[in-house]
Amino acid sequence: MPSPEHRFDVLVVGAGFAGGVCARRMAEDYGLRVLVIDRRPHVAGNAHDAPDEHGVLIHTYGPHIFHTNAGKVTDFLSRFTEWLPYEHRVWAEVDGRIVPLPINRRTIQALHGVELGTEEETAAYLASLAEPRATLQNSEDSVVAKVGRDLYERLFRGYTRKQWALDPSELHAQVTARLPVRFNDDDRYFGDSFQQMPAAGFTTMFERMLDHPNIELRLGTEYEDVRAEVEAAQIVWTGPIDEFFGYRLGRLPYRSLHFERETRATPGGRLVQPVAVINYPNERIPYTRVTEFRHLTGQVHDFSTLTYEYPTAEGDPYYPIPRPENRELYHRYEALAAERDDVLFVGRLARYQYLNMDQVVAQALVAVERWAAARGLAGALAERTLPEAA
Ligand code: FAD
Ligand code: UDP
Repeated sequence: MPSPEHRFDVLVVGAGFAGGVCARRMAEDYGLRVLVIDRRPHVAGNAHDAPDEHGVLIHTYGPHIFHTNAGKVTDFLSRFTEWLPYEHRVWAEVDGRIVPLPINRRTIQALHGVELGTEEETAAYLASLAEPRATLQNSEDSVVAKVGRDLYERLFRGYTRKQWALDPSELHAQVTARLPVRFNDDDRYFGDSFQQMPAAGFTTMFERMLDHPNIELRLGTEYEDVRAEVEAAQIVWTGPIDEFFGYRLGRLPYRSLHFERETRATPGGRLVQPVAVINYPNERIPYTRVTEFRHLTGQVHDFSTLTYEYPTAEGDPYYPIPRPENRELYHRYEALAAERDDVLFVGRLARYQYLNMDQVVAQALVAVERWAAARGLAGALAERTLPEAA
């Protein structure tokens, strides 16, 4: 019989968005005693931020920009953070020029040397370049069907081949379709109604989310470290689903990144780049993008830190790779997961989906609601004991 300090209602594996939201909801709304663990020495998962050795607030795992159209998501997160308005802008370096992304009227004018007076003219010009496709089978189709081959080759092919080590024709159509095509001059990277950053950073937001009397947090802790000693009727698993099942059906592939950082003196608080992120679609340049964090955080400082992203196959699992054979393998793992009433699989790695932060929050909120409903738990009831799974 485990001693009381090893007894919990729920064990949450992973202190990122999926784990953080599930833990808070289960602890607060259902009065359950929750242990949250993460193998990393910090909370916030891939959204972690912290000051570097120069005091510049950086995002440890690459730039994270919060944007959403889901009011339920901002309502939930706003309990743990104030917000700082921020509209993200990304420029791409192409053949010695800097052009805005996603493709808009100015991108086309700069790369094709044409004058496009109105949105209608821009739409008609793109239609003259587009290669129509009956169905969008892959990420090449998604782009050439809208903007034609030249813009595809100059902006998408090289970047995608570097990022995924696959040709766009081998990737799901939705990957490149994440970027819209605009006929006007709107040069914001995202079109969502809510575009703001947590004012004191993501990590602070997570510290507040996990600060609850029913939640205990153990960092630097592997699932394997606790599974024998901790007793919990329910597990929330937010790590890779294939890892949970001991890779018994084979490994799901993930894409990783290697980050190289550079800090420059910026007296008077000036900035190095004109915008937060510059993309480098050229395949001869080994990195994909360079981020200057102070654009994102609004911090004024005499130093500025930039991160170069080098895609790799090795390292932490950052990106599930959206292609049909991977989805098929995932579905086989999902069938195993369906047999485990005692484990709730939530988040980008546990569901093997290329999700943004707000989508993970929304998924976690729904997952907990459904899980509680299936067990007849009433919200905010503060029941202390978890009934046996049916
Ligand atoms: P994670 O954040 O990966 O959290 C899972 C946690 O589980 C990890 O901390 C891991 O250490 C822990 N864990 C796993 N297995 C174990 C184990 N066995 N034992 C203990 N701990 C374990 N989204 C946006 O909305 N906007 C952006 O601008 C954006 N930019 C991104 C940039 C990059 C480079 C990347 C990689 C992602 C970006 N995202 C962005 C996506 C965002 O990071 C994810 O949607 C979100 O962080 C996923 O949260 P999660 O909880 O599902 O997973
Ligand atoms: N993409 C590209 N060129 C760019 C930007 C994006 O080819 O300059 C493609 C690439 O395949 C990338 C996908 O579009 O993986 C989605 O881009 P996004 O910026 O959403 O990627 P993320 O921020 O998730 O890494």
